[in-house]
Amino acid sequence: MTTMMNPKEEVHWRTTATPGPECSSLKTNLTVDTVIVGGGLTGCRTALGLAESGMSVALLDAQCIGWGASGRSGGQCNPIWRETPEQLIKRFGEAQAERLIKTTITSADDLFADIAKYNIDCDAVQAGWVQAAHNRSARRSLEKLAEGWSAAGAKIERLEGDAVKKATGSPAYDFALRYKVGGNVQPLSLTHGYAINAQTKGAQLFSDSPVTSIERLGSKWRVTSPSGSVTAEKVVLTTNAYSTNLWPGLKQTFLPMVSIAIATEPLPKELQAVILPGKVTISDSRLAIYFSRYDRDGRLIFGCVGSTDTVGTLGGHQRLREGLRTVFPQLKNIAIERTWSGRIAVTPEMMPHLHQPEPGIIAGLGFSGRGIAMTSVMGRTITDKILGVPDDELAFPVSPIKKIPMHSLMNATLPLGAPLMSIRDKLSTIIDI
Ligand SMILES: Cc1cc2nc3c(=O)[nH]c(=O)nc-3n(C[C@H](O)[C@H](O)[C@H](O)COP(=O)(O)OP(=O)(O)OC[C@H]3O[C@@H](n4cnc5c(N)ncnc54)[C@H](O)[C@@H]3O)c2cc1C
Repeated sequence: MTTMMNPKEEVHWRTTATPGPECSSLKTNLTVDTVIVGGGLTGCRTALGLAESGMSVALLDAQCIGWGASGRSGGQCNPIWRETPEQLIKRFGEAQAERLIKTTITSADDLFADIAKYNIDCDAVQAGWVQAAHNRSARRSLEKLAEGWSAAGAKIERLEGDAVKKATGSPAYDFALRYKVGGNVQPLSLTHGYAINAQTKGAQLFSDSPVTSIERLGSKWRVTSPSGSVTAEKVVLTTNAYSTNLWPGLKQTFLPMVSIAIATEPLPKELQAVILPGKVTISDSRLAIYFSRYDRDGRLIFGCVGSTDTVGTLGGHQRLREGLRTVFPQLKNIAIERTWSGRIAVTPEMMPHLHQPEPGIIAGLGFSGRGIAMTSVMGRTITDKILGVPDDELAFPVSPIKKIPMHSLMNATLPLGAPLMSIRDKLSTIIDI
């Protein structure tokens, strides 16, 4: 094995993805029922649902399908929120929380069922997700989480001591929860799969078509891109952490944090047998969360919170190396092939938002790092809303756009977030904070 020298800065998933849909830029003026802005998992799953129901749909991405977080993701299907069902009831009220809890508990199985139904080739593995506690207070929080979600019907196992080490191959944790329904996917292939299915059912997909304005046109809306426009009754904004100032205030509803990742060289079979055996995935309770899984060829994908869109700046490489050494010391000499980053949209309560700021405008975003299963739920929810399902029957509550106070200031200091989180995480393993 060789040591990491100069890994290539390139999104690993682009090297192993199934082909994307044929798309070109919008060069005409179209009229459709719904136009979707943003070609990630949320936009593509929405396009699929709407096209399947017989609506005419156009989807525009500023770059290409899966260019954003969906094609850069860790691809872990981690089907639970950070709050207990009780906390969700307090936050949303009983009826809404109940719908959300029910949808959450089935979200992983729903995702894998979607993948099978649409015959999507995305290296899907439903081998479970282990959520590990990095200190005693994190253990107490995870125990509470397990208690609450188990009472609500989720199937969660508690692992202690050697059982954690055996389930993960990591000596770094003494307590963890295991969710058997969790799993992992090749996230770019999944996005491509949704997009191709949507296109087959009639959705028109456009790449290199940044939407620069949205204006009202009588009872309809017109979205404009440099060489064309789309007029529609409904506009769906699924731009998540890559949102611009296209719709007032939307970008201020979340903090665009950065997540960074590495792909190792393929691990020898002996190591694959002990590290994340059976292709289980792991993430932990640190603020600058460590997460890891295999790709289809036995490369370990390892990630954590970063500072900027370039991994090498502000200690990104060092944080990844330290994290890998902490979680899997057996891999200290393994070569790293690639490193990349992407943006996640973190909302104050770490839950996604569904907005309808004006009749006909719908936005679904803010997955706070839990987008693999939840973007599908959001795509189906937006489809339901457009097809006329009343708001009080939707999985997510429809909430007004609410800017985060002092957003610009917080945004400006975000690059310091990852180093500060790492320092706090280090302290928290020494003193129980
Ligand atoms: C490194 C990394 C690791 C992650 N790991 C996990 C994980 O393991 N598990 C998990 O559940 N989640 C994970 N996430 C989060 C998850 O990937 C996201 O929540 C999810 O992909 C969001 O999908 P989306 O479709 O809402 O947004 P995106 O995929 O970000 O898509 C938004 C799209 O909007 C387009 N766009 C923006 N503005 C415009 C415009 N004006 N006009 C046209 N197009 C526009 C962009 O080009 C982009 O393609 C991770 C994210 C990252 C970055």
